[in-house]
Amino acid sequence: MKARSQPPARSRLSPAQVDALNAEAFELRMSDTPRALQLAQQAHEQALAIDHPRGLAYALLRWSLCEFILGHPAAPLQARLDRAHSLLEALGETDGHLDALNLQALIHERLGSYEQALMLHQRGLELARAHGEIEAEARSLNNMAGISLTLGQLPEAMELLQSSLALAEQSGSIVDQAYALGRLGQVLQGIGEMELAGEHLQRSLHCARQTQDLARQASSALNLAALLSTLGQHAEARLHLDEALTLSRRTGNVNDLGQALLGLGQSCLRQGDMGAARAAFEEARPLAERVGDIPTLCSIELGLAEMWSAGNELDQAQNALERALAQATNGRLSALASQAHRALSALAEQRGEHALALQHYKAHHACEQRLLGEHSQQRLRGLFARQQAQALSQELQVARQADQEKQALLTQLSAQADLLRQLSHEDGLTGLANRRWLDLLLEQEFERAARFRHPLSLAMLDLDHFKAVNDRYGHAVGDAVLRQVARLLRDHCRRADVVARYGGEEFTLLLVETTLPLASQLCDKLRQQIEGFDWPSLHPDLHGITVSMGLAGNAEALSPGQLCALADQQLYSAKSEGRNCVRPRPAPAG
Ligand code: GH3
Ligand code: MG
Ligand code: MG
Repeated sequence: MKARSQPPARSRLSPAQVDALNAEAFELRMSDTPRALQLAQQAHEQALAIDHPRGLAYALLRWSLCEFILGHPAAPLQARLDRAHSLLEALGETDGHLDALNLQALIHERLGSYEQALMLHQRGLELARAHGEIEAEARSLNNMAGISLTLGQLPEAMELLQSSLALAEQSGSIVDQAYALGRLGQVLQGIGEMELAGEHLQRSLHCARQTQDLARQASSALNLAALLSTLGQHAEARLHLDEALTLSRRTGNVNDLGQALLGLGQSCLRQGDMGAARAAFEEARPLAERVGDIPTLCSIELGLAEMWSAGNELDQAQNALERALAQATNGRLSALASQAHRALSALAEQRGEHALALQHYKAHHACEQRLLGEHSQQRLRGLFARQQAQALSQELQVARQADQEKQALLTQLSAQADLLRQLSHEDGLTGLANRRWLDLLLEQEFERAARFRHPLSLAMLDLDHFKAVNDRYGHAVGDAVLRQVARLLRDHCRRADVVARYGGEEFTLLLVETTLPLASQLCDKLRQQIEGFDWPSLHPDLHGITVSMGLAGNAEALSPGQLCALADQQLYSAKSEGRNCVRPRPAPAG
């Protein structure tokens, strides 16, 4: 009766082996989600072949969880999860049933159906209580608090989190403590208790680092970075941001990566680096769109608006703010709506539209009232006192001190690491990546692009007749030209691209997520930038600095070495076809 699955000759597994695949998928879900997904799919195929319903149910459950983390479309995922849910419920698998309820709730939350999500969490909570599953209870409470936090209901969030933390401590689950502490930190930040917020977030990160849950580590690092950046501690914030970015790139967690890029954008914005802020926001946007993360999308618009209004591009800012307000209003995100109104008010004032400014200011104020009106404040004060008392307990003092010592050590270590990294990665003349670092990154990016089937292009750039520049104007001017070319390249490439000095007067660009035709257009713009630069500003007689570029894409190369060789051949063509050009030629504009 059973249909044969397409790949034939794979031998059948035993039920115990299928269970082991599922267990491994569960183990790897947060540290290597793509691999966990493969394992779950394999378990699914095998469970079907040997008619093993329990194995099938867990395979479907893990499969949908991995897809959720990787930001796959919701509909097929939900269908799979619904099947898992009914099977698990019928089989009386409490753990699996709880996981299914939790995941269904998270999907609804992502889609903005908060009531639905809360109802599912409530069901999970009751099931967990009935079976004495303390960890699951802690998790449900924590996730419910997440929704309250999104909706700006801070007292509710705080109350739920205090219960969640108590249960997590009781069960000894470090990972659940990390979750509760992380969210408590956000709530405390929301009510302006920065110091206590910082301690909670440090402890959350400290706990998360003791677990395999890289996604939690990323969120904790990100939350801490957000706080530090608000406090103006940019260097430290940056360390944690980098940690969050690296972790979420490694796990492939699209949601986390989008949020980390948002954090990066906001941090750059605060430091006045508008170009980098914009690049980060623009990289974050499609990711947030892919998973339908409305709060992040809304925050991106707010960030872009701030950037444009600083640059006096008021129409652009206005449009972004209107989009942000619509998203916040539709999603009932009061805190973000409040920010949007405040920014719109400031913008209207900047334009001399005082009546409109007042109107938005009133709306902002009404949102704030709703968020933190008298009643909320009173409740919060009581809850806050409890939190403070807890934070001052002896046990916590010890943990705090240990954290501080560790933090001091970390700061010191990371400063040393930074220096070493700079020394071993940087080219001394231009500050770009050096050849060795390029080789390493090329290896990594090539592998990643192959794994996810993403495009990657490599460009080799060589200054034209550069020997003559040295001969005519001296080596010092030659050096200045090399530095200026490096600056132009860095300024006009995206943040994620790698710009390196290959050696001498040759540079390499590694353009991630870029197809060859696109790369060719981009390089031609770079070529024009260099040609059009005001070279006499370096030396009055200096002119005619041009470059030739050769490109290759990973679609045509089997290895990093071959990619370089192909680009080199193209560079050779560019030189022999007259210099100051890009090969392969860019398609005509339009
Ligand atoms: P082509 O258009 O064929 O590339 O001609 P070219 O003169 O640029 O090429 P060639 O390879 O003959 O000369 C490269 C020159 O680059 C020779 C060397 O003096 C100069 N150069 C290499 N490294 C540096 C550096 O670090 N500083 C300076 N000022 N010059 C450098
Ligand atoms: Mg050369
Ligand atoms: Mg040259």
